[in-house]
Amino acid sequence: MPSLAPRPDLDSLPKYVPGRTIQGAIKLASNEVPGGPLPSVRAAITEAMGDVNRYPDSGSHALRERLAADLDVPIEHLAVGCGSVSLCQQLIQAVCGPGDEAMFAWRSFEAYPIVTQVAHAQPVKVPLTSSHGLDLDAMLAAITDRTKLIFVCNPNNPTGTVLTHDELARFIDAVPSHVLVVLDEAYKEFVTDADVPDGVEFTRTHQNVAVLRTFSKAYGLAGLRVGYAVACASIAEALRQVYVAFSVNAIAQVAAMASLDAADELMARCREISGERDRVRTALVGMGYEIPVTQANFVWFPLGERTAAFAEHMLDRKLIVRPFPEGARVTIGTPEENDLFLTAAQEFLA
Ligand SMILES: *Cc1c(COP(=O)(O)O)cnc(C)c1O
Repeated sequence: MPSLAPRPDLDSLPKYVPGRTIQGAIKLASNEVPGGPLPSVRAAITEAMGDVNRYPDSGSHALRERLAADLDVPIEHLAVGCGSVSLCQQLIQAVCGPGDEAMFAWRSFEAYPIVTQVAHAQPVKVPLTSSHGLDLDAMLAAITDRTKLIFVCNPNNPTGTVLTHDELARFIDAVPSHVLVVLDEAYKEFVTDADVPDGVEFTRTHQNVAVLRTFSKAYGLAGLRVGYAVACASIAEALRQVYVAFSVNAIAQVAAMASLDAADELMARCREISGERDRVRTALVGMGYEIPVTQANFVWFPLGERTAAFAEHMLDRKLIVRPFPEGARVTIGTPEENDLFLTAAQEFLA
């Protein structure tokens, strides 16, 4: 008799390590924005609570209609998901058969290898350049007959580096048309460099480009779980087919629309964070740290073996950062939080 057991390959599944939350400590570990919901968003959430005995709209029609108008894309080109993490997994489920390859830079977003393996696809990791950016030439060279999808995180999590319009355009033109290029733009709203493209523009001209966006970062709704994809109609439809029914809850849908209504106010907050980011990076570089130029709401410390000591040092000062094997990622917080962090970073060098 066969015995009941989970898939044996789950033993080798990398674990998603969430940023730690410690009472009384300052969390700079998960790339959240520091501000809570705006009063208008809070009011929409409160009102939506009255209907939670009903199932949500599984097609998120109102939100998709709103996004279609804002982005000037057909509604058929939109799919909504329970966070863009979920859309990453749905994309692989939608285009990869067992053993097909999903490629991404490494290190990049830690969900990519997990969702790839869960969906029975083969992860292909391409090392970053020595300047911590995506190595597009190496990624092109790694394409095989089995490659179905390439995640391109722009700006890259956790290094903050960006690809310019020309770099991306050249890459997309060189990728075979049967391979889906997924532009993950989770941090787009923090970008201040005018050479960084809006990925949605590529979806207007290329059937094999999909863009992922989220309400978790700039829009401040990480706790409610909602993101969206823009892609050609057939890919967007496939995303809706593999969607777990009702997984984007009603409160999230309403909060996302209220946040779009408040976009001006929220984007002004993002500009403040981007300004703080540049201030923090300049200060760190002045102390002698190597910090790649970042366009996201975090800075990357490629500290290698000193990473664990750095994270411990910060924790001793009640500052939670996010260590990886190669380095530490630190989210930009309020100006006061950033000052505390800068003082601690100076002390680490002593
Ligand atoms: C945070 C993040 C996301 C968004 O995740 P959600 O599931 O929408 O909260 C997607 N991609 C990257 C690269 C991220 O860092």
